[in-house]
Amino acid sequence: MGCEVARLASSFGQSVALVEATREGLPLAAPTGWISKALRHGAIELGTPDGSIRVPWERIEKEYIQPTAERAFAMTQEQMHLTNSTINYKDSGGYCLVGETTASTSKTSSEADNDYSATTTAKISFLKGNAEFDGPQRIKLNCGGDVDSFVESDTIFLSTGSVGTRVPGLPWNDERADGWLYDSHTIQNIGRLPHHVLIQGGGLIGVEYAFILRRLGANVTIILREDVLLSGKGVDDDIRLAIQGRLRKAGVDVHFDDGDISKVTLPSSPGGQGSVVLTRSGKTIKCDALASMVGRSGTAKPLDLPSGGLPPPTSSGHILVVPTTMRVRPSSSSFVHAPRVWAIGDVAKNSAISPTGLLSTGIAQAHLAVQSAFPDEWSEFMAEGGGGRILGNVGFDAFPPSAIWIEDGVGMVGLSENNASATIPKGDWATVTVHFNDTLKSCVQPRPEDEMLKMVFQKSTGRILGVHIFGAGAAEMIHHASSLVNNPIENTIWHVVKSVPPAVTYAEVLMKACQRAVDVIHGN
Ligand SMILES: Cc1cc2nc3c(=O)[nH]c(=O)nc-3n(C[C@H](O)[C@H](O)[C@H](O)COP(=O)(O)OP(=O)(O)OC[C@H]3O[C@@H](n4cnc5c(N)ncnc54)[C@H](O)[C@@H]3O)c2cc1C
Repeated sequence: MGCEVARLASSFGQSVALVEATREGLPLAAPTGWISKALRHGAIELGTPDGSIRVPWERIEKEYIQPTAERAFAMTQEQMHLTNSTINYKDSGGYCLVGETTASTSKTSSEADNDYSATTTAKISFLKGNAEFDGPQRIKLNCGGDVDSFVESDTIFLSTGSVGTRVPGLPWNDERADGWLYDSHTIQNIGRLPHHVLIQGGGLIGVEYAFILRRLGANVTIILREDVLLSGKGVDDDIRLAIQGRLRKAGVDVHFDDGDISKVTLPSSPGGQGSVVLTRSGKTIKCDALASMVGRSGTAKPLDLPSGGLPPPTSSGHILVVPTTMRVRPSSSSFVHAPRVWAIGDVAKNSAISPTGLLSTGIAQAHLAVQSAFPDEWSEFMAEGGGGRILGNVGFDAFPPSAIWIEDGVGMVGLSENNASATIPKGDWATVTVHFNDTLKSCVQPRPEDEMLKMVFQKSTGRILGVHIFGAGAAEMIHHASSLVNNPIENTIWHVVKSVPPAVTYAEVLMKACQRAVDVIHGN
């Protein structure tokens, strides 16, 4: 999100200092979860759904993780115009500048009969260091050297992300647990394929890793407190059930309502087996890796927000923001003299954009924050971008499309069936489901029976309230659905039934869903 803000703000002519604590301060315009995406790709190409082949970890590392990292860094540098020649490591003695770049934006305007063009240039400085407030508008950078550096700015964006929440009671600080116990952050450095991994938590990351490690050839057990997988991320119940069915088919052992651990026995030697006892059932499970992935905590506590004139973070390490602007709530009720600070992405709490903790949500929040911080520049930018047609403040999409890279893929936007039943009057909403195998394309290329699109719609208006897709390419298809959900006046089911999908493509599922919705409204 930091890269996105820097890119946008610099295109308005703002000079930007981008501070990063890790990677020698280098920016990386990729999500925290990028390693799991590379692992998943390797698991799909080299592994098997039922884990019947053990894939050598070295191949995954060499053929998938390293090349992904190289491509992502190169892409970021190109995007930031940060060429190798400008990267300048001088981090001794507290000097934190990693590189600088000048972003240029050419503008061509036509006023009366006078066409003119102008170029805006803005400097982005890349700084290495652990940032914390040292006063309002003043950030201290701990670079690991003898001397601290400081950056002063009248506008500050906080996008420090999240880390894996650690369950109290597990031996996090016992060195015998090194290489055996992982959280949802440290799992990315596992560096080996366990024989039996026990995953605590049935959320997005736990389920994603369960599929990946199973495909690579590990035995996998999931334990969770809830009676359903993937709760709290807006995933529709039917899609959860489909994912659950896939886990069962893959041979993953799932223990619902049994997610707490009462006793841990650590391995007696590195790489060996340890065991846990489950609190509710009393079962003992042996494993050579325990991955406790029970949610994410915000990273705001070390930022010392009060020194910046802001309220302290929540107990979970998040920063409370104004829902529709992402501006950090000031200590007093007035914004007049409040610090100009915005928080976005995983570290922010209370946003009107949901579901939280996902990449596209954070990008949408970044756009909203920049729009709120620089309203005049944003208006000008939008007016130019639209050739004068899009004027001023364009608001925001409350439901960005989400892509969850589990199994074949989940793409979702807007209300699930559960959300609709909680917010829309009874009788005024309904759902329709179309399987990929109901399309013409599937006559040529059939798909697994559980792959589908489910749509939630409002009967009185024909508005499309939510679209949830499970199957290969789901994430690629959801962008179109998101423009329908977020623009409900111009895009009802009636508009979609008269649209034409590209011939012989799975895109037909959305049109078919709208046709079925019309039938439901007509009582057929
Ligand atoms: C395993 C995994 C799988 C995921 N899968 C998906 C998915 O399928 N779909 C999806 O949409 N989302 C997914 N996500 C979530 C997505 O990755 C995050 O929502 C997104 O990366 C958050 O971006 P961010 O900029 O808020 O934080 P981050 O990407 O974490 O960036 C924060 C940066 O700030 C730096 N930092 C922290 N504190 C300081 C400090 N004090 N000073 C300086 N720098 C600091 C950190 O080093 C880090 O580089 C996944 C996440 C994980 C962990």
